[in-house]
Amino acid sequence: MGRTNKITAELAQYIADVGVREHPVLARCRHETHEVQGDLARMQISPEQGAFLGILARLLGARRTLEVGVFTGYSSLSVALALADGGSVTACEMSEEYAGIAEDYWVEAGVRDRIDLRMGPARRTLDRLIADGESGHYDLAFIDADKTRYDDYYERCLELVRTGGVVAVDNTLWDGAVIDDEDQSADTVAIRSLNVKIHADDRVETVLTTIGDGLTICLKRG
Ligand code: CA
Repeated sequence: MGRTNKITAELAQYIADVGVREHPVLARCRHETHEVQGDLARMQISPEQGAFLGILARLLGARRTLEVGVFTGYSSLSVALALADGGSVTACEMSEEYAGIAEDYWVEAGVRDRIDLRMGPARRTLDRLIADGESGHYDLAFIDADKTRYDDYYERCLELVRTGGVVAVDNTLWDGAVIDDEDQSADTVAIRSLNVKIHADDRVETVLTTIGDGLTICLKRG
C-alpha cells in the first residue's frame, strides 16, 4: 500500500523552510521554546501542524474555537492568527508559568484580545461551558494536554463543537508507542484506547493523519 514517508530531521527542516509560512512571532515562540524548555519543547506542535490548524480554522470559517493545553502558545497563536475579527480561542491551561509565556507571544502578535485564557483543570472549564449552554457553539477544538484524560476532553469537546465542526487530537501516534504491545504505560494505553474508540465512533468522520506525532481529525456528524 502507499504509505507516508519517514520524516527525517532534514526533511522536517525542509518542510519548515518551504512548506509553511510561519508568522515571525510563531518562529520566535518555536525557537525560544527549544532554547528555554529543552526536552520539554517536544510538547510543542510542529510548524506544519500549526499551519494546518490555521488552514482548518479558515476552512471551517471558525469564529469560536477551543484549545485544551496551551503550553507556550504556539497552537493557540496559530489558530488565533487565522481567525476573522471577532473570532476567539477559549484556551485551557493549568500552568501559570506556561500561560505567562504564551501570553507574551499573543500580545506581541496583536491577538491577545482573541484569546480567552481559562486557568485550571480543563475538564472543569469544559464542564462549565457545557453547563452555561455552550454545547454546539464551537467550530474547532484542539486537544493537546495530559494524555490520561484525553477521553474526557474528547467527549466534552465533541459536545461543544457544532455539527460540521472539528475536534483535532494531537499525539495520536505517540512516537509509535501505540503499536508497541509491551508499552502499557498509562499515557500510551489512554491514547491507544481513544484511537480505537474514535475509529468506531459513528458520531464523527475521522482520519488519523501522520502530521507531527499524529493528529487525528474528527468531523462531527449531524
Ligand atoms: Ca502535543
